[in-house]
Amino acid sequence: MSAVASKPSASPSAVTPSGSGRIFNFSAGPGCLPEEVLQQAQQDIWNIAGSGVGILEHSHRAKVYDKVLAEAEADCRKIANIPASYKVLFLTGGATTQNFMVPANLLAQDQTADYLTTGYWAEKSAEQAKLYGTVNEAWDGRPHKHAFIPSDDQIKYSTSGGAKPAYVHMCSNNTIYGTQWKRTPAVPAGVPIINDASSDIYSQPIDVTKFGLIYAGAQKNIGIAGTTLVIIREDLLQRNPRELPVMLQYRMHAADQSRHNTPPVFAIYMSGLVFKWILKQGGLEALAKRNQEKAKLIYDVLDGSKFYKGHARPDCRSLMNITFRVAPEVKNSEELDGKFLAEATKAGLDQLKGHRSTGGMRASTYNAMPLAGCKALADFMREFERKNG
Ligand code: PMP
Repeated sequence: MSAVASKPSASPSAVTPSGSGRIFNFSAGPGCLPEEVLQQAQQDIWNIAGSGVGILEHSHRAKVYDKVLAEAEADCRKIANIPASYKVLFLTGGATTQNFMVPANLLAQDQTADYLTTGYWAEKSAEQAKLYGTVNEAWDGRPHKHAFIPSDDQIKYSTSGGAKPAYVHMCSNNTIYGTQWKRTPAVPAGVPIINDASSDIYSQPIDVTKFGLIYAGAQKNIGIAGTTLVIIREDLLQRNPRELPVMLQYRMHAADQSRHNTPPVFAIYMSGLVFKWILKQGGLEALAKRNQEKAKLIYDVLDGSKFYKGHARPDCRSLMNITFRVAPEVKNSEELDGKFLAEATKAGLDQLKGHRSTGGMRASTYNAMPLAGCKALADFMREFERKNG
């Protein structure tokens, strides 16, 4: 069976280096995937590991899947040097399900959890936790249009009755507003940090030991929609503040090694391929270097221009989601945003439309976006300014 190489209907000027007819996809998620991962998946859908059966058709109890799962977990651990005292789980329901699984498993009704509300997804996380206990928004970025990450002295942790919070929840990268934590917040001693790392997981080195639990929908940096990576410190499996259906218990998923029921075999397989790709790239140090280089190409255009305006405060800018618009001071700026998007799509720079809450443009430059894509976008931005500025 040969690889399918259908061409996009337009004839864009920017196509990926493989020359396969694929264009640069700046989608915020599901995001672009490494081309060699897609090519491997094409083969394995037909027949994986010489088994005569494709990955989509194998039982989750079959030997072929045993190996897929074991390698995915081992590579995931290797990439971030995850200690044995943490469990690695591949769950379903997206990061959105973690928004309620976290408090359901870790927050008793009479306890308080602190939330660092730095963006849209962090807002959603805080809302869900209110179903299970008291929520203290130790930081609320809404009045600041979530344009920056708070400093430690701007954060007000709860101290009700002298008790420490059950945990502190953060979101390391704010996909919609384009901001990113450059440090781990200084939380009260002994309080676990829960991190929604959906949009920057494995884009740079991460010290897992600073966190009690990390979760990430796979579909941006480490695979496709359908599985959510959860890295949880073992002692947190013992909290059990309430009775829960088995599918909502971290301890059950840990005991059954992410196979209590039929897991999303293909999504986990895809994460496994992406983990191997990450290791082949030289790991997180190498990816971080490349991601910095990529983002700089675009931020340099913003910094050198009065025509564009970035949303994020420069010291909090995300390396993964770059949010900008034509500056409101420019005549017909909103019209120009629309024109930018239409012309960019024609040029092969796809899915650059910003989220409705920020408007304008958003370039998502996840791990699999090649440097050439960011260079093509930076060149396009300069040219668009020259013609319309
Ligand atoms: N958290 C963050 C930071 C996200 O970017 C997203 C998705 N864009 C979510 C949570 C929700 O993820 P899911 O769609 O996997 O539930």
